[in-house]
Amino acid sequence: MDAPRRGRPPKHWIDLDAAERAELIAELGLPKFRAGQLDRQVLVRLSEDPEEWTDIPKDDRAVLAERCAPKLTWLVRDQVADGGTTVKSLWRLHDGSLVESVLMRYGVPGIRASGRGRDRSTVCVSSQAGCGMACPFCATGQGGLQRNLSAAEIVAQVIDSARRLRDSEVPGGPGRVNNVVLMGMGEPLANYAAVLKAVRTITSPAPAGLGISARGVTISTVGLVPGIRKLASEGLPVTLAVSLHAPDDELRDELCPINTRWPISEVIAAAKQYFLSTGRRVSIEYALIHNVNDQSWRAEELASVLRGPNGYGWVHVNLIPLNPTPGSKWTASQPEVTDEFIRRLELRGVPVTVRDTRGREIDGACGQLAASEAPN
Ligand code: SAH
Repeated sequence: MDAPRRGRPPKHWIDLDAAERAELIAELGLPKFRAGQLDRQVLVRLSEDPEEWTDIPKDDRAVLAERCAPKLTWLVRDQVADGGTTVKSLWRLHDGSLVESVLMRYGVPGIRASGRGRDRSTVCVSSQAGCGMACPFCATGQGGLQRNLSAAEIVAQVIDSARRLRDSEVPGGPGRVNNVVLMGMGEPLANYAAVLKAVRTITSPAPAGLGISARGVTISTVGLVPGIRKLASEGLPVTLAVSLHAPDDELRDELCPINTRWPISEVIAAAKQYFLSTGRRVSIEYALIHNVNDQSWRAEELASVLRGPNGYGWVHVNLIPLNPTPGSKWTASQPEVTDEFIRRLELRGVPVTVRDTRGREIDGACGQLAASEAPN
């Protein structure tokens, strides 16, 4: 399950903790306070251009840029939808690996496609180039795993969205990132250390972090039980999402092959433990696939599997209409079947919502990220 080490990106400020940052500054023979200055440039002013670091002398800027804050992500292209409020970005990494991130702004007055409610923005980021989990209905799973991203490569995707929103590059005027979801390419818990470091940087208060609320961060996993247990012990109130997709091991073995290693009972037990440790309601992801996992009896079975000693207070089911992927034999469930699935869950008292399909026409929705340069 370990990713190949080739193509390791250069070390970046964001990959270092506070002590390591101070150490590096000392090693470079720079005054101590340069650390705080660099924090502010990179994490508060969101600037990756040393020319803009005008509070730092020119010579020191060059050293800092090269040794502490090398450029890690190059924008290949953007694709937009929903009146500009959904932006999928394709990034090239230093070794040529490609990943995608998706920025979604909601509740923009005058843009109906952005939906209702208050103005808020979510950025969906990748944690690996490719993915090794091989779920057959997911486009990312088809290409295999290239490599883990570093913490700085993960955070760079968030910084880019934060900068675009701040600078009004997305319709709706100046905005900010409210939510970060690790639901892009890759399995976050298979790249545990870098993901944790990234989340700590995202949620630390300025100037050492981006100052986004941990409650606004969601880590989604296919169900790596040791990773879920470890995450529960970090004292970080992030939301855990578990991609379940089937209530029975026979079907889940097929839809999520890692299930043969950690079956449903173990995944659910770890998820319940996560709730007990953090008090955060766990989100169960379930992509509804026509005639595969959408039968009424499976809705009943799902309700049974999720029932805790105190009912359903620990959990929330998020149904995802299956998004099309190249070469897949599967299609989305019929609307009546979806409604019946929801009704069965609601009758049993299971909290349930249906996820929107933002970005579908630019292959930016769940399970569609494949990061190729081919024009579409
Ligand atoms: N590897 C992690 C993070 C990916 S999140 C995980 O599995 O949770 C992407 C979400 O989209 C997951 O819930 C995944 O199962 C789901 N997904 C994958 N392919 C999909 C598709 N074709 N349609 C809808 N959802 C899909």
